Amino acid sequence: MAVGYNNIDVAAAKERGIKLGNTPGVLTDATADLTFSLLLASARRLIEGVEYIREGKWQTWHPSVLLGVELRGSTLGIIGWGRIGKAVAKRAAGFDMRILAYSRSTTPSESEDGVQFVDLNTLLRESDFVSLHVPQNESTYHMINRETLALMKPTAILINTARGGVVDPLALTEALQQGVLGGTALDVTDPEPLPPDHPLLSLKNALVVPHIGSATHQTRALMSSMSADNLIAGVTNQPLPNSIS
Ligand code: NAP
Repeated sequence: MAVGYNNIDVAAAKERGIKLGNTPGVLTDATADLTFSLLLASARRLIEGVEYIREGKWQTWHPSVLLGVELRGSTLGIIGWGRIGKAVAKRAAGFDMRILAYSRSTTPSESEDGVQFVDLNTLLRESDFVSLHVPQNESTYHMINRETLALMKPTAILINTARGGVVDPLALTEALQQGVLGGTALDVTDPEPLPPDHPLLSLKNALVVPHIGSATHQTRALMSSMSADNLIAGVTNQPLPNSIS
């Protein structure tokens, strides 16, 4: 009951004749919405603001309290130009952001509906926000590491609603602690869940939520019925409507 299947040994299942299904497509908008929630929350320091009030620190309006980043005119870099990456771009266009994208199959210097395709290093160097939308596999494992983090602006915010293993957690923690990176907002982590004493959870510039990308009533109902259709097809020896091949 998911679109990503990096937690399954596909080759071993195939070898044993076990059919595998997933639920692509129906999670796209919910996950893009959560990506944008994280982007806005970190840009405007929403959680810090809530804590500021709860801790009794708020005395009065002040011109320089909790200043954040304006989305209009900021650059969003989307890594993984698939269903969710494109849905995030649609939302960013509504906020007048400049949009860069990178995928294995995109050609740098081409553009599509106001989205400029670039190589990975250019995307990392030029973006104020970098949002990850690739599956976790051998080619994407720790794609965001010490070297790629060093290319990013020290004010940039990294958003991950893809899979935890796409980011090296140690390198990310160090980058945030050392001012190499401005902030991060994560729906997915490695490991998942993070232990409560994990250093990422004590950083003011890290926002972590518990893998809730597809957690809307509507999407979970659609995922449930897609999974049930796959199961019924499987037990009645029919081809799965949504099969992982
Ligand atoms: P998708 O449509 O298959 O898009 C993934 C894109 O990543 C593909 O278009 C592929 O593009 C690109 N890609 C793959 N390997 C790459 C690489 N090494 N370098 C650059 N680009 C690469 O999948 P989706 O539906 O958008 O979902 C994306 C991922 O989001 C899923 O795999 C899942 O892990 C995650 N997800 C998370 C949640 C959540 O709850 N947080 C919910 C849904 C999905 P090209 O092959 O064209 O380059």
